[in-house]
Amino acid sequence: MFNMPGEFEIIERYFSRQTLSRSDVVIGVGDDGAVLTPREGEKLVVSMDTLVEGVHFKRNTNPEWVGHKALAVNLSDMAAMGAEPAWTALALTLPHFDESWLDDFSRGFLSQADRHRVRLVGGDLTQGPCSITVHIMGFVPNGLALMRRGARPGDRIFVTGHIGDAGLAWLADEHRIDLSIDEIEICGRRLHTPEPRIDAGLALRGIASSAIDISDGLLADLTHLLSASYVGARVNIDKLPVSGVMRDRLRQADDWLLPMTSGDDYELLFCVPERNIKRLSRRFQDINYPISDIGVIEEAEFGLRCYHNGIPVELPERLGYTHFANSPI
Ligand code: ADP
Ligand code: MG
Repeated sequence: MFNMPGEFEIIERYFSRQTLSRSDVVIGVGDDGAVLTPREGEKLVVSMDTLVEGVHFKRNTNPEWVGHKALAVNLSDMAAMGAEPAWTALALTLPHFDESWLDDFSRGFLSQADRHRVRLVGGDLTQGPCSITVHIMGFVPNGLALMRRGARPGDRIFVTGHIGDAGLAWLADEHRIDLSIDEIEICGRRLHTPEPRIDAGLALRGIASSAIDISDGLLADLTHLLSASYVGARVNIDKLPVSGVMRDRLRQADDWLLPMTSGDDYELLFCVPERNIKRLSRRFQDINYPISDIGVIEEAEFGLRCYHNGIPVELPERLGYTHFANSPI
């Protein structure tokens, strides 16, 4: 007869099998608490994010993607702080034991952890409506953490990679737009298995005056940065980096607000004083990752102003995704 594994057997089977080890983990999964070695001369950076079924992913979403994304969105927060990720803990609530779901989920989670040299050091497992909370910890040398505050008038505003494809995949999933099979493949990868920009975050240490990761939408996250820094900004929408798929889309419907307000990009948005621009270009050449200059920080009184080919664009009331203000999917 098949016996349902209990909580401890599940932890043992699916979450104690990580191959990557770290010398700063004295005790990881299996005791009442993890015992970890902090680093001298560095600050510990801590962050947490939850994914809820029906809000952040659908019941039938590939569990390997869900595992990947649960850690990736947390890694993206580390990137935005300029931190080097080290340790993670995972609180998992599941409605019932599902062997193949757990196997796929843990594979997605642990392969993303291995890839970024992050060790799973503990967590929690409970029965209830499906929800995943990830806690992440990383290091940044004293004085080098990137923060939302710190942008000054005259700083240039940059964004890494390109934005909007995750939003296209989401709209296609909702049957609100049509994409070809190839386009669904390209955009779906961005939505379901985002790649956190850890290297970019590290490259920005000592160079960026402020930074944030784009999770709710470029305009929404830029607004967070601006209010934390008490500044305004002028953004040139035509300088926005978008993919070939998005460019085709914009040719059909000239809706530039789409890439600026759709979320889940997990690129970095950051500001750099003029004097650091040369060093910035050199560092990003070294890591071989594209960045685009999309505007400039201004005094707070100007607020956020967007221009398309020099013409002012009116901004919508809703700049991005906000829990409680938006109804879930
Ligand atoms: P306690 O009852 O003492 O809180 P638990 O029974 O919740 O401990 O967990 C036992 C051990 O397994 C702890 O070390 C905990 O950190 C770890 N753990 C629990 N759930 C997970 C999980 N989903 N992933 C990784 N480790 C886990
Ligand atoms: Mg205990």
